[in-house]
Amino acid sequence: MGLVTMVEILDKVHANGTAVPAFDAIDHASVEAIIKASESINKPVIIMVPEAALPLIDVDNYFEYLTYRLGKTKVPVALELDHGKSFNVIMKAIHAGFTGVMIDGSDLPIEENISLTRKIVEIAHAAGVSVEGEIGHVAGGEGDMTEGSEADENMYTKPEDAKRFVEETGVDALAVAIGTVHGVYKGTPKLDYERLKKIKNIVNVPLVLHGGSGVAKEDFVKAVENGINKVNLFTEISMAAVAQSINYAQKKQNKLHFAELVLIANKTVNAIALDYLKLLSLDN
Ligand SMILES: [Zn+2]
Repeated sequence: MGLVTMVEILDKVHANGTAVPAFDAIDHASVEAIIKASESINKPVIIMVPEAALPLIDVDNYFEYLTYRLGKTKVPVALELDHGKSFNVIMKAIHAGFTGVMIDGSDLPIEENISLTRKIVEIAHAAGVSVEGEIGHVAGGEGDMTEGSEADENMYTKPEDAKRFVEETGVDALAVAIGTVHGVYKGTPKLDYERLKKIKNIVNVPLVLHGGSGVAKEDFVKAVENGINKVNLFTEISMAAVAQSINYAQKKQNKLHFAELVLIANKTVNAIALDYLKLLSLDN
């Protein structure tokens, strides 16, 4: 099995009306925990690295580890650059062996978003790499944990824009803004299912929900039933790993090995990843 193109995984869930979770992972412990979860129930998974997190990583070494490690998994795994913004970073990911890239031009006017995305699609497809684009804008900072955000309806994806964007860019997957935010949600997210259904009816590529942290389990199921095929997750899992590790350290009055903290974090990520893998596939 090992590393496959993102489209290979997405086409299957798109065809059978289910979804795949996509986890941002910027450390080895999280990657191992996610692989273990997906192998334990034999489900494909997508692992992502957000461009915004690259300053926290020894990039060349980490990319080399990822492509090597994901090449040996017992389930199909795709490796995606999440929220690619700069041309150079996207090219670096493609060179390193990523099988998917997201080009996020969602803060640009639609014409510019289309032309930028189309350019990335041409290059990525020539290299056999899948592309995710975004139209409309999911608010909040990627991985921002300091303050919560609220969704802004003016930035939600317009169905006719989504149709045009997909037709003119040739993207393999489309991130839509329907009421979630990145990072911590201020209040309770309300998803716009009517809008999602309209988009689904006129757009024939897999749809992606960003900013899943804070969304209730039943809303995820409803989102998948109404057309979402990929759910991006990061903040909730990363924060849970931190909280559990700190708890454990306090219980031990800080008299512990660093490896014990890593193990607690690994177990926490594993348990949450397993929950999402089961929840989103809808057949468990
Ligand atoms: Zn996102």
